[in-house]
Amino acid sequence: MSAVPDIRIPNDLLPKDGRFGSGPSKIPPDAISALVEYAPTYLGTSHRKKTVIDVIARLRREMADLFALPDGYEVILGNGGSTAFWDVATFGLIDHRSQHCSFGEFSAKFANAVSKAPFLEAPSVKESEPGTHPLPEVEAGVDLYALTQNETSTGVRMPIARPDGTASSDSLVAVDATSAAAAMRIDASQFDCYYFAPQKALASDGGLWFALMSPAAVSRAARIASGDRYVPPSLDLSIAIENSRNDTTYNTPALVTLSLTLHQIETVLAAGGLEWAAKRCEESSDLLYQWAEKSDFATPFVTDPAKRSTTTTTIDFESAVSADTVAAVLRSNGVVDTESYRKLGRNQLRIACYPAIEPSDVEALTTCIDHVVGQLA
Ligand SMILES: *Cc1c(COP(=O)(O)O)cnc(C)c1O
Repeated sequence: MSAVPDIRIPNDLLPKDGRFGSGPSKIPPDAISALVEYAPTYLGTSHRKKTVIDVIARLRREMADLFALPDGYEVILGNGGSTAFWDVATFGLIDHRSQHCSFGEFSAKFANAVSKAPFLEAPSVKESEPGTHPLPEVEAGVDLYALTQNETSTGVRMPIARPDGTASSDSLVAVDATSAAAAMRIDASQFDCYYFAPQKALASDGGLWFALMSPAAVSRAARIASGDRYVPPSLDLSIAIENSRNDTTYNTPALVTLSLTLHQIETVLAAGGLEWAAKRCEESSDLLYQWAEKSDFATPFVTDPAKRSTTTTTIDFESAVSADTVAAVLRSNGVVDTESYRKLGRNQLRIACYPAIEPSDVEALTTCIDHVVGQLA
């Protein structure tokens, strides 16, 4: 790799916080101070005792509140992040056959995990070009529709709605919301399982998954668990449900992650809830898309404004300007993780606009990029 050009960005142009990664993402300093204060009586204590149980109980209650979950919906959690949850769903939520909207690295990975399961039929996979999204199509024999509210790898968001005609059927809608949860609007009546890891839109650390589950999803999980399919206990959704109902987890959870997630949920609730968070992400991402549209070297990668992510923005550069070089110069100035998703292979920056990121810092970032590109010319 060639040397990074020695460009110093003037201090007064720099954002206050230089973390723009899509995940792990910026954890606000006040969340860390709160954790440090709480740590002596919390970290290093038993997850089977009241202190930790109370944190999980609050998390479950406040998530139900934040997402306006209808009666009967439950907040379930377990270890292993969203990737583990794909295996959990493969074992414990899909009856025979799933359909996947596959439009980037993450949505494709779930479809791929399912396709290897010997006890399931080959999944139906709807694909579209990077930068766009397919829509689910009602199909006989499909008992779970897998959607992704925000495809983190490409910066495409999709509307979350039950496919036409399935509202009164037994099929379930499962939504990967890892880079959308607590940052984009969502109508709980449109899903049966809304799952996420908290190190992206939720400004926490990795290692856990959360799933907001409808009564239909909970009873599907119970029915599959009572059948004769072999399920490894650590991936058994019915065991996770049983433990979550007691505000605990099957095995030891990441206590730091739990606490930081709770802090962010409470921050969003105190600031005005999901609507506040959604507006803040819109403000930040609008700044970027409008800057790119005016720029003579940058353009939004996603051409349809309705599909442009409000949490993970992707900005293409014209070939004369190397996005990798710009990202490297930014990094050498303490502004990190603006590189595009590596496997997408475009001349592109990807910039997170999660609720924990200040819109004023996003604005400062656009000034920094202009400065760097000016110096490179
Ligand atoms: C990051 C990401 C995942 C994977 O999350 P892990 O916690 O690392 O397993 C899955 N889905 C989406 C949409 C993501 O952005």
